[in-house]
Amino acid sequence: GIRLAKRLDEVGFSDIVQIRNKVMSMRAEGLQVHALHGGEPFFETPDDIKFAAVRALVANQTHYAPSSGLPPLRQALVDKLAFKNSIQVTADEVLVTVGGSQALYGAFQSVLDPGDDALVFSPYWTPIGDLVTGAQARPLSVPTITARRNGVRKTLEQFSTPRVRAIYYNTPQNPSGLVFTRSEAEEVAAFARERDLIVIADEAYEDLVYDGEHVSIASLPGMLERTITCFTFSKTYAMTGWRAGYAVAKEPFMTALRKIILYSTNGVATPVQHAMLQALTTSESVIGARREEYRKRRDILIAGLNDVGLECDPPAGAFYAFPLTEKIDKNSRKAAQILLEKAHIATIPGSVFGAQGEGHLRFGYAIPVKEIENCVEALRAFFR
Ligand code: PLP
Repeated sequence: GIRLAKRLDEVGFSDIVQIRNKVMSMRAEGLQVHALHGGEPFFETPDDIKFAAVRALVANQTHYAPSSGLPPLRQALVDKLAFKNSIQVTADEVLVTVGGSQALYGAFQSVLDPGDDALVFSPYWTPIGDLVTGAQARPLSVPTITARRNGVRKTLEQFSTPRVRAIYYNTPQNPSGLVFTRSEAEEVAAFARERDLIVIADEAYEDLVYDGEHVSIASLPGMLERTITCFTFSKTYAMTGWRAGYAVAKEPFMTALRKIILYSTNGVATPVQHAMLQALTTSESVIGARREEYRKRRDILIAGLNDVGLECDPPAGAFYAFPLTEKIDKNSRKAAQILLEKAHIATIPGSVFGAQGEGHLRFGYAIPVKEIENCVEALRAFFR
């Protein structure tokens, strides 16, 4: 009979899709649902970015672009990386990808062999576990909170095995909103150098840091040559649907990544790349103003959560709150189900983000202020 490739057997689909479907069917029944399960900006893509794509289309920029990306776009990314991330690279060390997702896929496929282990700071964005198992490797969860308490380097050592080849390092972290400090980044870097490990850095939320600073681990001494850094336009520029991202790495990583891009998508849609070029002209003050919008939402939600006893420290970055669920139910799946059915509040159970997420719920606050206020009101009513 028909048989499929075994390497996909261990790869799952995220439960987040099921929650999205459930919300849609509740809405179809005419119910009002407070939608805090999402992870995308409510802002629309700015008009100048949209017009750049339209202009490109009208000017017949509809042909193949170089598989690695348009040269002017890669050069603009080089400048951005030097200015914002203190990462000094050439245009040959930048690769335009179909969202941060393709950059991450390429990174894991490039460095992991069957039987390898990858250290993954946990809780982690759900697809990461599947990207590791999809490369026939094993994800090893490193509890971020324990690392913070007991020392990052010591904790990495404790969870490491002789088969570890890579570390997945995401800051600001989805789903917790945690931002690693510079000294924590230095500890990860020291561990990677000492054990000769590769770092896969995920900086999807680099522009959403409210407290502290964003440090690109590739900017630390001796790290550029062992790091693949994955970026996306999705969050900073509200461009989730454009599927625009990029990877930054030196050789030999770049050659491997190029092969994966060439044989999967052969590059990113040409008009999208013109939109990306325009997005990079956005001033830091505009990005900063949006960040303040998110901060406002964070503060309203965090106050509301703590108020009803869903304990939550203000997350330093990204646009998620990750409170303890104990007051509803210790089991995060049950807690999410109760909140959805009884209060019509859609959240994501922490357990989908790995074992360290259990006991938490993820609330996404990249939505209008009014909707957050309505959610807080619904929480109050629920606990009354
Ligand atoms: N990395 C993290 C931590 C994310 O949360 C996301 C999106 O939710 C991505 C990467 C990838 O985003 P995209 O594929 O839209 O660029």
